[in-house]
This record gives sequence, C-alpha cells and structure tokens, in this order.
Amino acid sequence: MTKALMWFRYDLRLHDNLALLAASDFDEVIPVFIYEKTNSAATASDWWLHYSLEALAESIKSCGGSLIIRQGNPQLIIEELMNTFQIDALFFNRSLLPKDVLLEQELVEKYSTKTTYVKCFDDRLLFYHHKIVTKNQTPYKVFSSYWKIAKLQYITFPQNKNSTFSKDTFDSLALDDLKLIDNHHWMKKFGAYWTPGEQQAIQKFEDFIEQDLASYNKLRDFPGKQGTSDISPYLAWGNISIRSMWYRVKRFIDEQPEHADAADSYLRQLAWRDFAYEQLAQFPDLDRIPVRKAFQHYPWAFNEDLFTAWKTGQTGYPLVDAGMRELWETGIIHNRVRMVVASFLVKHLRIPWQYGYDWFKETLVDFDTANNAMGWQWVTGSGIDAAPYFRVFNPTGQAQKFDSGAFYIKRWIPELKDVPLDVIHSPEKYVAAHQISYPQPIVDHATARKLALEGFEHIKKH
Ligand SMILES: Cc1cc2nc3c(=O)[nH]c(=O)nc-3n(C[C@H](O)[C@H](O)[C@H](O)COP(=O)(O)OP(=O)(O)OC[C@H]3O[C@@H](n4cnc5c(N)ncnc54)[C@H](O)[C@@H]3O)c2cc1C
Repeated sequence: MTKALMWFRYDLRLHDNLALLAASDFDEVIPVFIYEKTNSAATASDWWLHYSLEALAESIKSCGGSLIIRQGNPQLIIEELMNTFQIDALFFNRSLLPKDVLLEQELVEKYSTKTTYVKCFDDRLLFYHHKIVTKNQTPYKVFSSYWKIAKLQYITFPQNKNSTFSKDTFDSLALDDLKLIDNHHWMKKFGAYWTPGEQQAIQKFEDFIEQDLASYNKLRDFPGKQGTSDISPYLAWGNISIRSMWYRVKRFIDEQPEHADAADSYLRQLAWRDFAYEQLAQFPDLDRIPVRKAFQHYPWAFNEDLFTAWKTGQTGYPLVDAGMRELWETGIIHNRVRMVVASFLVKHLRIPWQYGYDWFKETLVDFDTANNAMGWQWVTGSGIDAAPYFRVFNPTGQAQKFDSGAFYIKRWIPELKDVPLDVIHSPEKYVAAHQISYPQPIVDHATARKLALEGFEHIKKH
C-alpha cells in the first residue's frame, strides 16, 4: 500500500490539479491544508478561504476521505505527518510567493530520499514561470511584447483523475478553529454576493462564457454593466483551473469565430496575471518597494482624515465613493474603478500606494499579492510597464465616460439616487442646494493634479 501526502495551498479544487493528479497514482492520498497565519485579524480573503475549504472538505468527503486542517509552520507539520503515517511521497503546487521559495526547496531536498519521493508543480499560472524571456534571456518589461510570445505557448491540457483518499481518521482542527470568519464583522455581507468553491467557480465561468464573453471587449470597462467574469476570487484560491479556463475560451472561439476578438481580449487579461507573477519573482518586494527607485523620493503627504474619507467612500467624487463602498459591501471593485480609486489615493491625495495596497489586502475577496502589487505600482507609475506618471485620472471625466447613465454610482451611493443625470458626476452644487447629505469634494481636482505633477517633477532629479 503506497501513500501520498497532498498539500493543498492556493489550489483548493479536485479538478485539473497537477499535484493531486500526481498524488493520485498512489494507492492512498492523504489531503492536508495548513493555515500559516496564527494571530492576525481575519481578512476578506480569509472569508473566501473559509468557504473554499468547506467546499473542498465536502468534495473530499464525498470521495470517502477527510481533509486534514492544521495551523502553523508547514515544514514542521509536514514532517510530523510524513513520519507518523509513514508516507511515501509528498506533492504540492508552488505558491509562487517569494516567501515560500526557500521552504519549497527545502521540502524537495528533504524528501528526495531513497524511501520518500517529493514533487512540486507549476499549477497556478498559464505559462511556465520564467520561460517567457527576451532574446537576451531577460524578463519582458512591456506586457504587449510578453503577450505576443506568451499566446503562442503550449498550455498543458486539463486532466482529471479520480483519487483514492485515505479512509483513516487523522488528527485535524475544525474549520472554525482557524477563525477565518468573523460573523459580527463586515464580511458577513459577502455571502449575499458570493458562493466560494469549485462547483460554483465552474458554473460561474460557464455562465460567463455563455452570456457575456461575446461582448467582453465592448463592456469590460463599464462598471454599471455585467461585462466581466467576476472570477478573480475563485482564481485567487485556485477554486478553478486556469488551464481549463483557457481551453474553454479556445473552444468558444472555435464554435463562435465571429466573437474571437472578444475572447482574445479575455485571454489577454488572464495573461496579465502571469505577467504580475513574473514581476513578483523578479522583484520580491513588489508589494512594498517601488520598482523605479526614484519613486522612493516622491514627496508624499499622508493625511489620516483624507485616508479615512477614501476608505469609507466620502471623498465627494461619486465614482471614487461608489467604488470604495462597493468594496466594503461586496469585497470587490470593478477593474476600471479600481484604477480610478487607486489613482485618486496616490495622485489626488498623495498618500503612498502601500496604504492602498494594505487596505485592498484587508478588504478584497480576490486579494492576490502579485496582481495587487502590480496594480498599485502600475497606477502610481512606479512599476514595470506602468501608466505614465503624468496620467492623472480625472474621476469626474472617468465617471462621465464609463458610467454615463450613473447606474453604478446610484447603486452604491443611495444619497444620489434622485440627483439629475446632468449634474450627478459633479454633484457639489446640487447636493448643497438640496441639502443632500453627501460630502463636498475633499480636494479640488485641478489643484490636486498640479501638486501631483510637481511631485513627479521632484523625483526626476533622482
Ligand atoms: C490597484 C489595483 C489592485 C488590484 N488588485 C488585484 C488583486 O488583489 N487581485 C486580483 O485578482 N486582481 C487585482 N487587480 C486586477 C483587476 O482589477 C482584477 O483582476 C479584476 O478586476 C477582476 O475582475 P474579473 O475577474 O471580473 O476580471 P475579468 O476582466 O473578467 O478578467 C479575468 C481575469 O483576468 C485577470 N485580470 C484581469 N485584469 C487584470 C489585471 N489588470 N491585472 C492582473 N490580472 C488581471 C484576473 O485574474 C481576472 O479574474 C488589481 C488592479 C488594480 C488597478
């Protein structure tokens, strides 16, 4: 009887999971999830994790096994399990987080012995990590060049195999012991918007393909319309296989070639995620330190009151406030609005982007280290292939262009629901005249833009 330990990480699913496929060649698979944080407050991403684990445990149970849940240092826990249950092999998928590189190497070294076998896989992304490089073997710095090469790569076809999970009972924590959800906290609302887990991910993606993919390139920038897939939180915890998504979109192109442009633009967005992980590998401090070092000299002007107004959706700029309230209510913000709120924090308020990164880390159900860090550095202008520093999104202009009917604004800012369309994007005079309880703009756009640009002139000297 051979036994394999399957260490689940950011791959909480049974379908097309490379490590699990390999483990399934053994007579018995023992599944474990290890939660590493020990005493920090639960985040929106933890909420997602809780329900993803619940769904995974249920799926494993329906196959006759039971998911072991542990908390603490993975190395020690894996060692204990390997020894106690005389396990022959260890399988896991790489997390691709810089903090885990050493741990993963050590595990591979430790269990590559005469009596034990270990293998870790690149399962999280579409393209093999570090394989898409320039002629000089350096990473691409421009996404469009990266994508030109990336889209020609072969992507492993999705595979599925039944696993025989061990029927033994193991010492395990109860899911609630991890304290991933706080029912008295704001996250209780998320259940009204989301159902995490593998089956829901597959169904949601299928619905998107059937209903929205054909118009993705036309609608993806309009937050008041259902134009995007809303799949990011499922991807963050690996509820769905990225390869299966790729091939499903390819099949759509074969079946409906007239919508190939829309489908291609979707595949291109998926590749941004890979590009983000390449950046994280190249700059392990991507979430803290600007890639363009001159940005360390930017004259930031942190102000607690302005930061609070931003977090709570009280800036007096309707599109910014709608986005921040959507985030607080649902754990997500539409991508177009993410760019606008991020630009507002960094450029209008001159608050360091790391504050925004941390707030998103706490409140996004789709929090992803690489995407979040790349997103903030892109908006700031400090990253690779970033928005030019002199592009200061005008939140009013963005609202007029992308939410011209104010559907999104009215949805998230009920105070403005009766404000006429011709003034809703700059409602300051109207709300004052009608005594509507909505704040006046906390900064003047023209002045803020001027100060932001002066700050950028300052760093040019470095
Ligand atoms: C400041 C900022 C912070 C961000 N933080 C995160 C984050 O923590 N987690 C996260 O998943 N995304 C983040 N993004 C990227 C993007 O906003 C989300 O991926 C997208 O809004 C998710 O919605 P969707 O699944 O409907 O996207 P769709 O448009 O349907 O795209 C499908 C998938 O492609 C990928 N994708 C799309 N756009 C991007 C992008 N710009 N960068 C990287 N991947 C992309 C995502 O995996 C997404 O789920 C951030 C963007 C910005 C500007």
